[in-house]
Amino acid sequence: MKAILFDLFGTLVDNMTNAEVEQFRNDVADALEVDRGEFSRGWSATFHDRGIGKYGSPKEMIAAAALNCSSPYSVTGLERAVEIRRGFSQRWLTPRTDAMSTIHALRQRGFKIGLLSNCSNEMPEIWETLDMAKVIDAPLFSCREGLRKPMPEFFLRALDKLQVTTSECLYVADGDNGEMAAATALGIPAILIRSGDDEFRQEAEEWDGPRIERLSELLHLIEL
Ligand SMILES: [Mg+2]
Repeated sequence: MKAILFDLFGTLVDNMTNAEVEQFRNDVADALEVDRGEFSRGWSATFHDRGIGKYGSPKEMIAAAALNCSSPYSVTGLERAVEIRRGFSQRWLTPRTDAMSTIHALRQRGFKIGLLSNCSNEMPEIWETLDMAKVIDAPLFSCREGLRKPMPEFFLRALDKLQVTTSECLYVADGDNGEMAAATALGIPAILIRSGDDEFRQEAEEWDGPRIERLSELLHLIEL
């Protein structure tokens, strides 16, 4: 094993709860002066395109989600909506308490560290301001690569950046977007990370491979 490839949300940082996500959508809809339910449906409908970076900026991304609302969105409210999204994403990118110490310890053992995240286009900009960015050798964001999990090409691009083969890389994730099956199908060993507080995920429920509850457990599991 030469490299560890981490998922971001629910792995290096906590997932937002469903209630927090709903609050975010409502706050944006209110800023845009559109119907909350209609905006929520638009936000869900644009999920995949948002993930592969189809929209050039956070402003375009939010405008696209509001496009099919029955009333036109407030153009001045759009600026406020972008601020709400940035604040939400900034809070979301708070590292788990043992994330930095675990990554430092893995690096000391000689592992290369990668990141493979399905995310929208405000995330990489915020990422670059974080301490975590300094300890990740190869961060790959779906919105920048134009690829998303579970596409095999996305995983293979990460391996290419890390300069390792499938069997030399361990994938660590909380089981979303078909990522566990995608990694395994490529021959990349995978570990599921889940804590008792996590929201229900069908993929995580069905995973019968190794699992951990905290990142620091990796240090005991991984052989040199
Ligand atoms: Mg995740």
